[in-house]
Amino acid sequence: MTQNAREPSFRESVDQMFNRAVGLMDLSPGLEEKIRVCNATYTVRFGVRLRGEIKTFTGYRSVHSEHMEPVKGGIRYATGVNQDEVEALAALMTYKCALVEAPFGGSKGGLCIDPREYETHELELITRRFAYELIKRDLINPSQNVPAPDMGTGEREMAWMADQYKRMNTTDINGNACVTGKPPNAGGIAGRVEATGRGVQYALHAFFRDEKGMQKAGMTGDLSGKRVIVQGLGNVGYHAAKFLSEEDGCIITGIIERDGALYNPDGLDVESIRAWIAKHGGVSGFSDMHHVGDGASVLEEPCDILIPAALEGVINLSNAADIQAPLIIEAANGPVTAGADQILREKGTVIIPDMYANAGGVTVSYFEWVKNLSHIRFGRMQRRQEESRHQLIINELERLSKDAGVGWELSPDFKQKYLRGAGELELVRSGLDDTMRIAYQSMADVWHAREDVDDLRTAAYLVAIGKVAASYQAKGL
Ligand code: NAD
Repeated sequence: MTQNAREPSFRESVDQMFNRAVGLMDLSPGLEEKIRVCNATYTVRFGVRLRGEIKTFTGYRSVHSEHMEPVKGGIRYATGVNQDEVEALAALMTYKCALVEAPFGGSKGGLCIDPREYETHELELITRRFAYELIKRDLINPSQNVPAPDMGTGEREMAWMADQYKRMNTTDINGNACVTGKPPNAGGIAGRVEATGRGVQYALHAFFRDEKGMQKAGMTGDLSGKRVIVQGLGNVGYHAAKFLSEEDGCIITGIIERDGALYNPDGLDVESIRAWIAKHGGVSGFSDMHHVGDGASVLEEPCDILIPAALEGVINLSNAADIQAPLIIEAANGPVTAGADQILREKGTVIIPDMYANAGGVTVSYFEWVKNLSHIRFGRMQRRQEESRHQLIINELERLSKDAGVGWELSPDFKQKYLRGAGELELVRSGLDDTMRIAYQSMADVWHAREDVDDLRTAAYLVAIGKVAASYQAKGL
């Protein structure tokens, strides 16, 4: 660690990264300040009667920018939640939505709670009460503020919140659009649970198509055989690890969790480790041979791709110099502090920044919100029509082949794949892939073209801030 160096807080880190980018832009100081600051943060303390006594909880909902409405961002359940953290996360949401062209301002919420300490029915009471407090102030509302899952929350909590909103707004026909990340049978969309991990996979596909980017990281080839270390086998980390190993041939050599890590240079089985964690609450006991007590030390093991997918600040001044991966993809929000970012940049490590890397969640949330407002499942109108047009072509090809006497036959496998019209899941994946490709290209164009931009994060900030600034300027601010 540099002598006297102080680790900035998460919000300071985001501000420092923002300042680095605006230093390269030509914005008026007033507009710069307007974009940087967080518009409002609401703190609520509420009581819930649990186990015979009243317990008080503290929650937050922060709105960073309303240049577009509704504003959007997850709700986190964790003991470390605080105002500084939700404000940093809300700011990141503004830039993330701008980068992937999801038409939202940035917001974020959190509740100081360890969800593992409560029974399901207790969590429901707490969640409904928290939602009630936010709904009363339009901080959950289909046209103003639309939360989603984040660390410690998932489909279940989103279903409770949506139901709470609908109980309090019985005539709102768009009630389902008040939160995203709901279960499919409660207004959700196919592919939302996996979306952030899927987006990490698509982001890596985009990077591996970028020859100049690969050169900068000193990497060659494709994803097959690349050694990957993942921190946090929760929603995002699990899906990313699963898709990369099952579909792209990556070898998952390290999995870091709260209670230690598993490390095996020959590869780990993601599914059985996920099942073990679900049953035992951690990785301990899974395999004594591969268990590492000091989990965080595995971040420093050699690998090709490092995926921090748990929480912020894990790569910091104390370990940045020892990170060996040439490529880090920030599946979590803010896993690399501003100080560590500088050390890694100087070493030549390429970082695919959080703002882009984990934008798959908000992208598919956007699709879910549109689905809820249009009250129809994607693909419902076109699917069969698409299939019958494909059938026409197949029939014609087969007729031509027969008439010409050449005896060509389309294989049943081809016919089956070609004939099938796109359902909701296929359309969601296609929309997500398209979004991740276009957003990557917009960052990479800046990264490769400008000599004063030597990293993807600054490029991402430049693109995102440029879009937010254009939106404020168009409004006449
Ligand atoms: P999650 O709660 O499903 O998973 C988090 C995982 O990290 C858990 O397995 C937990 O045990 C582990 N973990 C917690 N503390 C740890 C520590 N100190 N060391 C190692 N592992 C630890 O959460 P998630 O939804 O997967 O979110 C993870 C990150 O991704 C967060 O930064 C979140 O903001 C970000 N993110 C999530 C989404 C989403 O759609 N869920 C979208 C965008 C960004």
